[in-house]
Amino acid sequence: MHIHRDDTVEVLSGEDRGVRARVLSVDLKRRRAVVEGVNRVFKHLRRSRRNPQGGRLEKEAPMNMSNLLVVCPKCDRGVRVGFSRDESGVKHRLCRRCGSDLGTL
Ligand SMILES: [Zn+2]
Repeated sequence: MHIHRDDTVEVLSGEDRGVRARVLSVDLKRRRAVVEGVNRVFKHLRRSRRNPQGGRLEKEAPMNMSNLLVVCPKCDRGVRVGFSRDESGVKHRLCRRCGSDLGTL
């Protein structure tokens, strides 16, 4: 997958469009990612011993990775990602715009 944990990504859709933030986790099966502070939802909590008032908790929800672009540090914008293998067969991610290496997988 082209997006990894700890990548900086740009959000393309929804309330948080245009925001840049860090990827907290990636769900490969569902092709979704949790991005810091993006796509927040309120989780409503029932009263409990720990939480006698009940209430609501604001939390990031996983979002589809097709709505995210990896930010290339050189281009300073969200870019499409390509792949290549070096001489030793290690897979690298490349910026499709400027060709710089965005790290190994
Ligand atoms: Zn670039």
